[in-house]
Amino acid sequence: MEFAAFADRARAIEETDGDLAVVAAVADLFAAADDDLETLARFVQGRAFPAWDDRKLDVGPSLCHEALARAAGPNVTADDVEDRLADVGEIGAVAASLDLDGQQGLSAFGAGGGDDLSVADVHEAFVAIATASGSGSAGAKADHLFGLFNRASSAEARYIARLVLGEMRIGVGDGTVRDAIAAAFLADDESVEKNEEEDDGEDDDGAQLTLSELGEDADAVEDDETEAFERPPEDAVTAVERALQVSNDAGRVAAVARDAGRDGLGNVHLEVGRPVGAMLAQAGAITDAVEAWDAVAVETKYDGARVQVHHDPGGETRLFSRNMEDVTDALPEIVEFVADRVDVPVILDGEALAVDDDGDPLPFQRVLERFRRKHDVARARESVAMELRAFDCLHHDGEDLLDAPLSERQARLETVLSEGVSESFVTTDADEIGEFEVEVLDEGHEGIMLKDPESTYSAGKRGQEWLKRKPDVETLDVVVTGAEWGEGRRANVFGTFEVGVHVAERDTAAEDGSEYATVGKVATGITDAELDALTERLREHVATEDGQTVRFEPAVVFEVGYEEIQTSPTYDSGYALRFPRYVAVREDKSPDDADSLERVERLASE
Ligand code: AMP
Repeated sequence: MEFAAFADRARAIEETDGDLAVVAAVADLFAAADDDLETLARFVQGRAFPAWDDRKLDVGPSLCHEALARAAGPNVTADDVEDRLADVGEIGAVAASLDLDGQQGLSAFGAGGGDDLSVADVHEAFVAIATASGSGSAGAKADHLFGLFNRASSAEARYIARLVLGEMRIGVGDGTVRDAIAAAFLADDESVEKNEEEDDGEDDDGAQLTLSELGEDADAVEDDETEAFERPPEDAVTAVERALQVSNDAGRVAAVARDAGRDGLGNVHLEVGRPVGAMLAQAGAITDAVEAWDAVAVETKYDGARVQVHHDPGGETRLFSRNMEDVTDALPEIVEFVADRVDVPVILDGEALAVDDDGDPLPFQRVLERFRRKHDVARARESVAMELRAFDCLHHDGEDLLDAPLSERQARLETVLSEGVSESFVTTDADEIGEFEVEVLDEGHEGIMLKDPESTYSAGKRGQEWLKRKPDVETLDVVVTGAEWGEGRRANVFGTFEVGVHVAERDTAAEDGSEYATVGKVATGITDAELDALTERLREHVATEDGQTVRFEPAVVFEVGYEEIQTSPTYDSGYALRFPRYVAVREDKSPDDADSLERVERLASE
């Protein structure tokens, strides 16, 4: 395909309103793409290379501006390009506004004739730009890019500039590409007939489903389109989606769908060495997980960096970041760890964390000293050690496991590695999860992950099946009003603290007339040393003592975290903090400055 034809279609797509109309236009493009299908399936999303591919154009704005200015002739400088960019705000519009054609005419004249730029030419130039490396690479990249702009019309330059800077933005996302592939190549016979009937036949460029013309009027397009273009069948979309997840390569999936249909897509498999999109988590509460699933798989959330391990015992072990960058060379000890222990091909998902000499986790800043490091790796390794905590197994010895439930993937993981695996257990008990969270936080980890044991691995997706429960963002400052003595070995220190909020001027004060209304009992999140110090300190404020139970004069303010605030008949405030957790003593606050019942009411109703 001529690049000019792609540029025209890209412009039409950009100006199209309505999701379905965009899918139709992209499907049309794919159907007309012939040999350029793989490239075009990437270009529409602004990608020069497949998502899994580590190659990068590495063209910054100034290099692009320079190349554009050169192609626009002696009267235009890179500063002019930048001035225009400041005016119009978008590099494509700047490129399209430059008079490249005059120069193109001159050079074409010099070269003895015009030559049209094809999609394949642009792809080839991108490969050359990406492979230029070492000293002088900036100059080589600039020359290649200048060469492209020099051959391009203004309309073509709009999309070349956007592609090289990764700013395509024509409104085509992953879902559009997926649906367009399904619509272009997998629509069932019935829908082909339907569309042929409705197609006027005048503009038949081989697409099974055409949107005829996109039309000027967006509303009209939406109306027309619903008649002429039907959403591709669900099962076709699912087949494409699966192949996209597995291969991470829209170009290849489009080509397989066209050339081998649904059966072909079913044969797209994971490849050891080719990274897969990482499954992502949403923020969520313990109660959400317990209510939503039959059981909850609970794991430590490590404060490290995501790492996908691709291990081929007969070949290499490679590590990829969450963005699918190859980070193998930065983390040799993780490579060695896996290579020494695993003798079947596997793809594992996990976290790389920094640890001290005792194996305790170090803060995330230390992870950054190692992750992605290109130089002085050996020296950095001496100052910060990295360890793997694998938590998933996506491929095991020739078998793809993306569609297997988490419980099975974890079982496989255990057969692969007996150490370096994330701590995890399955439960239905919310309190048990709350207790585990406190332990994990005390050990210095970031928090916990809650996962549905039945869930499959949705590569590259942020779903409801993985919930990240980080320590509370919101905390309350509460007055310590009472305590229970501990038991056994801990009988001489307080074990549980009753905490309350300020009732202020309200007449709904606590029943006993005190100024503070109880909102919960805090027993977790306090280290032994802190407990000793708190006991010492609160002892002098004891007002009454009755068996195990002590009441204090208001004196000390705790900052406490919690998961949510529930209405509850248990305490005189009418509210209870769910999973309250000690954070610190607010030395700067007196009991009068503690949070009020009003604030609790407000937070509870949010
Ligand atoms: P966030 O970066 O806050 O969105 O949290 C999700 C990230 O937590 C993942 O991308 C992983 O890098 C990290 N993580 C740490 N431990 C786990 C675990 N056990 N399961 C899944 N992700 C984890």
